Amino acid sequence: MTELKRQEIDGVFDGWICEGKGDQFPIFAKVVIDASGVAGVCSKLLKLNPRPEVIAGMQYEVLEVPSDGYLDFYIWPKYAEKGYLWMIPKSDGRANIGLVTENKKGAVKALDQFIEDGEFKGLEMINPPWRKEGLKLRGFGGTIPISGPHEVTHFDGIMLVGDAAGFTSPLFEGGSHLALKSAAFAAQTAAEAIAVGDVSAANLAIYANRWKTEFPPYEKILKGKTALYSLSDSDMSLMGNCFPEEMSSMGISGKAMVGIRLLVRRPSLYFKKIIPAMLAFGYSRAKYYGW
Ligand SMILES: Cc1cc2nc3c(=O)[nH]c(=O)nc-3n(C[C@H](O)[C@H](O)[C@H](O)COP(=O)(O)OP(=O)(O)OC[C@H]3O[C@@H](n4cnc5c(N)ncnc54)[C@H](O)[C@@H]3O)c2cc1C
Repeated sequence: MTELKRQEIDGVFDGWICEGKGDQFPIFAKVVIDASGVAGVCSKLLKLNPRPEVIAGMQYEVLEVPSDGYLDFYIWPKYAEKGYLWMIPKSDGRANIGLVTENKKGAVKALDQFIEDGEFKGLEMINPPWRKEGLKLRGFGGTIPISGPHEVTHFDGIMLVGDAAGFTSPLFEGGSHLALKSAAFAAQTAAEAIAVGDVSAANLAIYANRWKTEFPPYEKILKGKTALYSLSDSDMSLMGNCFPEEMSSMGISGKAMVGIRLLVRRPSLYFKKIIPAMLAFGYSRAKYYGW
């Protein structure tokens, strides 16, 4: 899509004529749901929101990766500045090994170094199956918005979902759950608005209410992220040692015990805002659209 032309009937908003590349265009739509990811096509074309801040994410597909079936997760500023690294096992011994980092220019070099320095050294890497055959080996990935939900997520006949709306988890930048859920909200809102013949911004405002009610508190988790990344390697190791093996079943008393154990072992952590960091961890679970 390259252009949006506003349609009105007798001064009342009626929909958008979408221009774009391909035989199907122009397309008339009463409601456009923008799921264009970080490209944020509608925000750009209609100047609805400023461009988001982004973080770089990239990974390699690797063969015959030793795995116990769990994914590996590393917070290791030496390789991933204000980010983290992962090994996510897939079928047939394959795995994605990657990182996100605020150091966009150095992402590829840092990931290569991480692989070279550790247990994944020497394993065979391949291009992902969707890339044309015969191309030189390259990682795959892209940028992820990290400045939080956009101010404007609906407009006359427009709703932004997923990355296009800035919906990624503030702690570890996952966005798949948020994209799917916001798309479901937008579809429901569009169907209701079309049914009553009013697709104006005022009538689509319920979309913003829906996602704001459902999604976890962005600012609160962001504070936790800042606190987490202010910890030293040794603080982080201590924190890891105080967590139980299975975190999902940890109740309120379990969490309090972890907090007490940490503060007894290293009281100075209180001043590094360890509690918001732990609360943010608590939100970073699938149940809360985390990761
Ligand atoms: C390396 C990496 C690892 C990640 N790992 C995770 C993870 O483990 N868990 C997790 O939850 N999230 C992860 N994410 C984030 C996740 O991928 C996104 O949050 C999610 O894909 C957002 O979905 P979306 O549908 O909003 O956008 P996208 O998946 O980006 O889809 C947008 C689509 O719109 C298309 N498009 C763009 N412009 C136009 C246009 N003008 N016209 C038509 N189509 C257009 C794009 O080509 C793309 O296909 C990761 C991201 C990266 C980069």
